[in-house]
Amino acid sequence: LSDGLQGAFKSLSGKGKLTESNMREGLELVKQSLLDADVSYSVIEEFMSHVSERALGKRVLLSLRPHEELVRIVHDELVSLLGPVDTSLHLKKDGPTIIMLCGLQGSGKTTTCGKLAQLLLEENIKPLLVAADLQRPAAIEQLHVIGRQLNVPVYSDSENKNPVQVCKAGVDKANAEDARVVILDTAGRLAIDDELMAELQRIDKRVSPDQVYLVVDGMTGQDAVQSAGAFNEALELDGVVMTKLDGDARGGALLSVKHVTGVPIKFMGTGEHFDALEPFRPDGMASRILQMGDIVAAAREAHRIVDEKEREEMEAKMASGDFTLDDFKNMMEKVAKPGLMGKMMSLMPGMNQFKEVMESEEAAGGIKQTIGAINSMTQDERKNPKLIDAARRTRIAKGAGVQTPVVSQLVKQFEMMKPVMQMMAGKGAGDRMKMMQQ
Ligand code: GDP
Ligand code: MG
Repeated sequence: LSDGLQGAFKSLSGKGKLTESNMREGLELVKQSLLDADVSYSVIEEFMSHVSERALGKRVLLSLRPHEELVRIVHDELVSLLGPVDTSLHLKKDGPTIIMLCGLQGSGKTTTCGKLAQLLLEENIKPLLVAADLQRPAAIEQLHVIGRQLNVPVYSDSENKNPVQVCKAGVDKANAEDARVVILDTAGRLAIDDELMAELQRIDKRVSPDQVYLVVDGMTGQDAVQSAGAFNEALELDGVVMTKLDGDARGGALLSVKHVTGVPIKFMGTGEHFDALEPFRPDGMASRILQMGDIVAAAREAHRIVDEKEREEMEAKMASGDFTLDDFKNMMEKVAKPGLMGKMMSLMPGMNQFKEVMESEEAAGGIKQTIGAINSMTQDERKNPKLIDAARRTRIAKGAGVQTPVVSQLVKQFEMMKPVMQMMAGKGAGDRMKMMQQ
């Protein structure tokens, strides 16, 4: 079979299914990748058992290896686990919307206050920031610096040692000044402690914030589950902001945090500046955590080309021997889109060396000629190429503007291919895979 033919044929998949044994290698790969991304062990355990349950018995496209199909499923599961997307701040129509930020010390709460303020300013909304971190002496001044930089008001009261009262007074001020949004910058601790939680609960109770966001350092490792769990228990969280995703951290903590809290992930902090806040995108994050982008892209491409229903129809035709030159033409047209073959090849591990061949003008020209020749045939000829004698060959070649041998070659190849296809369509994917590789 010519390369083009083989490529086309391979995309057509088979009866192979994911089984416990052929998934083992892929599951191990995924698990290792999640561990490297710093997803918490307990979360990995649960996720892996969920995924293998979902994946078991799923079909494997013939052009994919089981672990590639599995990785695609894992990626999709990660995306759905990290979603749904809700990056709205849910501002109220009337009265100030109170947003409370909480999280461990150094997680990026104060910086995020500035970033959210900037975001609101872009919408022509001027928020009031409230300096409710009375733990660190410099915290109040830090917020004032941000306020001056962005030209937004900051409420603070360095005389008052009670953060609940400070928040209450800040909200009163926002009410009096008709501010549409108040952002409370609360205190953190280096580690979870009861005093911090009690303080946050008191603020929560007294000022009833509309949105409570947990700010998590994206570089957090295994402790993410525990700390997010503690905040989630003490407060009714509405969202998560994960910071410091501009570095090398793969952000596996996000998966842990999402798993524990179940609330939407709102934003990602990607730098120290005020404009370094991005709305959360599950797909991008899943790729980042999993780091198997190439495999996922190749697998998606393979699935995109092959429509499930169409594939089953083709396969049935092949198995019964009803596969005609028309079907063959459809198949060629599908995979012969400019750039597609080469792209698929470059995405598949080990297939890179074929990229140039497949992308060459020769290959493209060959496919074009093949399609042209089939177009010049009558319906009867397409169904039954045996009808094509010397006279017909000349007519077809003329019609398609190709040399006569192109037509004879095509007919010969097709006749040779048919029984092979018939046999393969009836076999298991494993056997066929071996045959394809011979
Ligand atoms: P807080 O204690 O929770 O209020 O944390 P801060 O807002 O003071 O931030 C702690 C440190 O993290 C500061 O040096 C910030 O500049 C830095 N930081 C916060 N968010 C980000 C981010 O998204 N990317 C980077 N690179 N640094 C950040
Ligand atoms: Mg702070």
